[in-house]
Amino acid sequence: MSLTCFVKSATKPAVAFPLKESTPKKKLGIGSKFTPPPSIPKYTLNIKDVEKHFELSECYFEEESTRGTTLLTDLFFQPNATYVVSGKKNLKKQKKSKTGLVYDENMMLHHQQNTHPEKPQRIKEIWNFLEEEGLVARCERVQSRRATDEEILHVHTQNLLDEVKNTPPTEYGDCYFNQHTDNAAHLSCGCVIELCDQVMQGKVENGFAVVRPPGHHCSHKPSGFCFYNNVAVAVKVIQKKYALERVLIVDWDVHHGNGTQELFENDPSVLFLSTHFGFDFYPGTGKVTEIGQGAGKGYTVNVSFDKAEYGDGEMLAVFHQILLPIAREFDPQFVIVSSGFDAVYGDPLGGCNLSPQVYGHMTYLLKSLAGGKLVLALEGGYNLREISRCTYECVKVLAGDLPSDLPKTLGKDFKNEYWRVGEKHVATIRDAIKNLAPYWQSLSFASALIGIKAEETGELEKSLNNMSIQED
Ligand SMILES: [Zn+2]
Repeated sequence: MSLTCFVKSATKPAVAFPLKESTPKKKLGIGSKFTPPPSIPKYTLNIKDVEKHFELSECYFEEESTRGTTLLTDLFFQPNATYVVSGKKNLKKQKKSKTGLVYDENMMLHHQQNTHPEKPQRIKEIWNFLEEEGLVARCERVQSRRATDEEILHVHTQNLLDEVKNTPPTEYGDCYFNQHTDNAAHLSCGCVIELCDQVMQGKVENGFAVVRPPGHHCSHKPSGFCFYNNVAVAVKVIQKKYALERVLIVDWDVHHGNGTQELFENDPSVLFLSTHFGFDFYPGTGKVTEIGQGAGKGYTVNVSFDKAEYGDGEMLAVFHQILLPIAREFDPQFVIVSSGFDAVYGDPLGGCNLSPQVYGHMTYLLKSLAGGKLVLALEGGYNLREISRCTYECVKVLAGDLPSDLPKTLGKDFKNEYWRVGEKHVATIRDAIKNLAPYWQSLSFASALIGIKAEETGELEKSLNNMSIQED
């Protein structure tokens, strides 16, 4: 059999040439393009046919016209489409780490037939990518397990457990059910608990939980694709087991972690920080003025961008100006991240502009807290290719690598100005600092820098006065 392929470089026009079985495999560089011939019927030419002729096992590639928005999941090529080599795999053997990874394919059984974005392939794509990059081999595999009902009852009610167990298959709505939903939700939660437990025991240093369904929207009922709040349950379990007095939860999903906030907003033992797109966007909560209740006042931090399109510059500013100062003052004993990747550039739901690489940078910064006891648990993120890349960037940093350089462009031509904060987002960060300054001495420097005077926050003055009285 012979196969005619068209190969072109980034600069030269496509060249057609006949390929015979004996033709040596062509190595493709980044930017090389290849086009299956028009004579091949649609969807019948799969990667195996093309791999006879090209070294595709070394490459990541994308269909050119949808570049940056789709992933070649099933690896079926289409005739007349052009494919671009977008990256090269790292096939070198890497040093073993004490980073834990937890994953279980049984979580994929929770699914529905239509095109719901919270689809089973999300975790499989991520896992495959980590395997291809050698990170699964390099990390410790943590055994998956179901959460017990007793563990879930640390934060949820028996009513919620019964509802998840007994709801008949439902195909529509933001929380669909099938006969495996209850088991998948127990597994998703149990995997996060188990990973946190192993970090606390010192069996692994840190880790990533590749889990679904997500959890951060759930407090009292299933909502926003979530059934049990995996992160909240895990925090409560380890707080109880190890008598932890201070835990930091960071939620960088593009949606506000409203379920987690509700569960901890009165609790000063848990510092919760969520960055999200908050204006006229699900779930509609998480304004900068929401800073906790009662004894928990000051321990809920919301940075709610009122426009989407925030990106690396904004996230790094939040980390350096708000999160890290407060977190160092709080001095957590454990850090867990609700790690949604739907703020990444190219996500079909988020509309924001984070690079995959910035998630590695944020992971790197969080590793400096709590003696490195850090767990990331997957939440949202719906562009399969991008969430795989984001997870890779986080896990490699957990495993001891330095973060990748931040890219100067994203997608085709989008400029990634990670060194600046967009004007429309400065006010949001300023408001968050202003609201929190009364509760955190560590924000006084940031307040001074951005020109917030003590009298702008009556309470700030009061708290500073109280501090000097205490010192006397
Ligand atoms: Zn989300």
